[in-house]
Amino acid sequence: SRVKEAEFVKSSARARDCPKDDRPEFAVLGRSNVGKSSLINALIRRKEAALTSKKPGKTQTINHFLVNKSWYLVDLPGYGMYHNDKIIDGIANGEKQSEKYNFALVFIGLFAAASQSARTDWSSFTKGYFLNRDTLVGVLLLVDASIPPQKIDIDCANWLGRNNIGLTYVFTKCDKSKKGKGGRPEENIKEFQETISSLYPEPPPWIMTSSVTGLGRDGLLLHMSQLRNY
Ligand code: GDP
Repeated sequence: SRVKEAEFVKSSARARDCPKDDRPEFAVLGRSNVGKSSLINALIRRKEAALTSKKPGKTQTINHFLVNKSWYLVDLPGYGMYHNDKIIDGIANGEKQSEKYNFALVFIGLFAAASQSARTDWSSFTKGYFLNRDTLVGVLLLVDASIPPQKIDIDCANWLGRNNIGLTYVFTKCDKSKKGKGGRPEENIKEFQETISSLYPEPPPWIMTSSVTGLGRDGLLLHMSQLRNY
């Protein structure tokens, strides 16, 4: 499960533009600022990888990295960006409106912080990607362990689970601990797991990571190699 080489292959604006070979792939998904770029960089040992734009309003893309010439690590746009304390993109589950966040969840899957037309693109593009990408072995859903569980992450897990997308929870920033409620990674992870266990009889596999200490890096690579060979 060692990474001997990794190269950036391409950015795709739509699911149908993604590489067309049969190599297995893992998609990395998470809230903006969850530590996605840092984790990808740590996994493939790049100084600056992810070409993902973080700025709302910019076109966002699916970025394919080819690892050891045999499998892809895929960087998806982050969700849950904030503007004036409001989330301006997110995951709609189509059934309930969010009470916690003061904005109307627009129906359908995930959508990007962008113009209305870009949102529409992202919705169909993300749905298209998750639901039709035959080579997708699993989704690494990144969850920040240094803060209490966020509704938007639970919604995302819920959406993926309901659509039978194979998930692994990757808890990030596990090196970061603060005194007081919601400051300990172990506590936050436990709370997240408890919330999820009421949604699913069988919780997905999960792993604790830190891009600062390197915690979980080898474990996550091993986990992905096991899933690829399954
Ligand atoms: P992204 O928006 O999800 O790509 O997040 P980034 O990788 O850019 O990280 C967001 C912020 O969290 C940056 O300030 C990082 O330095 C910090 N960060 C990322 N990973 C870790 C981690 O494992 N531990 C700590 N303590 N901070 C992290």
